[in-house]
Amino acid sequence: MTAVGVATEDRHCDVAVIGGGPAGSTAAALLAERGLRVALFEKARHPRFHIGESLLPANLPLFERLGVADEVRAIGMQKWGAELVSPAHPQPTRLAFSDAWDKSLPFAYQVRRSQFDEILFRNAARKGALAQEGCRVRGVEFAPDGGARLQVQREDGGEETWHAGFVADASGRDTFLGSRFGAKRRNASHNSAALYAHFRGARRHEGHCAGDISIFWFEHGWFWFIPLADGVTSVGAVVWPYYMKTRSKPVNEFLMDTIALCPSLAERLESAERVTDAEATGNYSYACNRTHGPGYLLLGDAYAFIDPVFSTGVMLAMTSAVDGAQAIEACLRRPGKARRALARFDRRVRRGPREFSWFIYRVTSPAMRGLLMSPRNVLRMKEALLSLLAGDVFARSPIAPSLMAFKVLYYMHSLAAPWVALRAWRRRRSSLRETANAGA
Ligand SMILES: Cc1cc2nc3c(=O)[nH]c(=O)nc-3n(C[C@H](O)[C@H](O)[C@H](O)COP(=O)(O)OP(=O)(O)OC[C@H]3O[C@@H](n4cnc5c(N)ncnc54)[C@H](O)[C@@H]3O)c2cc1C
Repeated sequence: MTAVGVATEDRHCDVAVIGGGPAGSTAAALLAERGLRVALFEKARHPRFHIGESLLPANLPLFERLGVADEVRAIGMQKWGAELVSPAHPQPTRLAFSDAWDKSLPFAYQVRRSQFDEILFRNAARKGALAQEGCRVRGVEFAPDGGARLQVQREDGGEETWHAGFVADASGRDTFLGSRFGAKRRNASHNSAALYAHFRGARRHEGHCAGDISIFWFEHGWFWFIPLADGVTSVGAVVWPYYMKTRSKPVNEFLMDTIALCPSLAERLESAERVTDAEATGNYSYACNRTHGPGYLLLGDAYAFIDPVFSTGVMLAMTSAVDGAQAIEACLRRPGKARRALARFDRRVRRGPREFSWFIYRVTSPAMRGLLMSPRNVLRMKEALLSLLAGDVFARSPIAPSLMAFKVLYYMHSLAAPWVALRAWRRRRSSLRETANAGA
């Protein structure tokens, strides 16, 4: 072990990956598999807590590709669909992934992220990446002629200098490079905040639907109810920032008070005990104004995060890593093809958040809630919607025309109840203004 503060000899790799979450570990595994020397730096130690426990069917082919499908199956709770519970509707609705356009991916998993992220991280090491925990990247300098120099601090206080041909930033919401380059932008079209905890003893569904996610709308936003395999249930409220600002109590109490505002959820938690402290997170919707630059690219949340409502975060993070690995390999081994590879990466990374945004921004509006509560398959709109919810947005299925029809139907519904739509629009606008003013 090196003494505290004493620098070691410089070290070299082809690719330095900052962050060992789903994006970083996926990219590291794929690049190492291709024979590149990869150094993966994770500031924490696995297993570590992370929010984001509900996965999508579109994750499954990625698990196969990485060779971790069996390990994920062993820790996961099968999720065959989503239950939607609305205070404006007498009955809940169940949406099944098997009704999507592409019937080949009818389920996904709910996972404890501590276990899931560790599986991906260890897999990267097994594939040959030098996967290091307790190592925080503190600084990076890019050389004008390509390549980068990274300062890495180990948890024992020791420091290392690394030289890399390319840097993949997968540092999640820390947005390591995005923040350094001033490239991170608050999302001007969306804002929300969340508070969440784990519960034991929640009343869960039985049989086939036992692992489905439940979404409960309530006056100030919506809740998730995510059953995990070990009997614990993750419960979180995603609320308008104005509501979060009303908090005058400790987070644990505030979460319980918030749950009490949603009777259908409170009933499911009647005999449940909170087994973790509640956590709160402020407005988190943002994107960087670039996906890559000379010698680096941004993966997963290090590029953008919009909202948890459709459980897209992990899928988009892993997909960006697959595309990123391809682009990095081209940059390092086939420079003639680098430009094209980076342009493709850019298109695909921007596409994910864009496809979901329109739906996310409207999910608390009465018109959208009405359509989700009773989706009809006219013009194959329901199948297309379910494909979107399954994460099938990278052109596996030709869902675009049917989603367009769904959007037209949404506007027609809004026009049919103009005062309701106007009230919802005003509320959203004033919330956005409030956040913009607070940030100004
Ligand atoms: C309230 C909430 C609920 C959510 N629910 C869901 C959900 O149900 N389903 C879903 O798919 N997504 C959900 N998400 C989103 C999901 O958590 C993220 O999109 C996903 O974790 C992104 O993966 P990532 O690999 O890009 O980043 P992360 O998973 O955040 O991984 C980044 C890693 O980088 C490390 N790191 C950061 N800085 C450094 C540094 N300087 N040096 C070394 N290491 C560093 C961190 O320790 C971390 O391990 C939710 C998000 C929120 C806020």
